[in-house]
Amino acid sequence: MDFKQYVTVVEDFPKEGIRFKDITTLMENGEAYKKAIEAMTEFAHGREIDVIVGPEARGFVVGCPIAVALGKGFVPVRKAGKLPREVLEVDYGLEYGKDSLNIHKGSIKPGQRVLITDDLLATGGTIEATIKMVEKMGGIVVGIAFMIELSYLDGADRLQDYDVFTLMTY
Ligand code: 5GP
Repeated sequence: MDFKQYVTVVEDFPKEGIRFKDITTLMENGEAYKKAIEAMTEFAHGREIDVIVGPEARGFVVGCPIAVALGKGFVPVRKAGKLPREVLEVDYGLEYGKDSLNIHKGSIKPGQRVLITDDLLATGGTIEATIKMVEKMGGIVVGIAFMIELSYLDGADRLQDYDVFTLMTY
């Protein structure tokens, strides 16, 4: 399937010069969304994954259906101040800003095999912070799956030590 035909490229969002890849039009199409999730779930097969981890909000859109398809759990990574219990916090840089990410302490057990998911790899800052949190808790990152990679931002350079899957590249 040509997944790109379902993604809308929005000029100058959220600020001038950014060509935002809007995946909500892909999600609106039941068949495209299902096929995209199936392809990403296929990457997960055979990796003996214990748990899926994804950053808000579009990491949930991708990670939760994969978790359900695999019959595995999902652990959310959220912006500061959103998670109700004790958290582990890591600072990160975005393609368009800076923030910190949180994960519930104890949500990953030492030795657990983790698949990290997000909709899009840009500079890699979000995923690098997510990896840091997983590894701090003793998790083993056995794969990272994205719907989209923006290859011109070189985020993959930061993920060279990991097994990365991408459905679409721009
Ligand atoms: P990075 O940390 O790799 O620079 O940025 C990736 C994060 O920003 C992802 O969580 C992603 O959801 C969001 N992001 C950045 N640019 C885009 C974009 O063009 N489209 C979408 N859907 N998300 C983006």
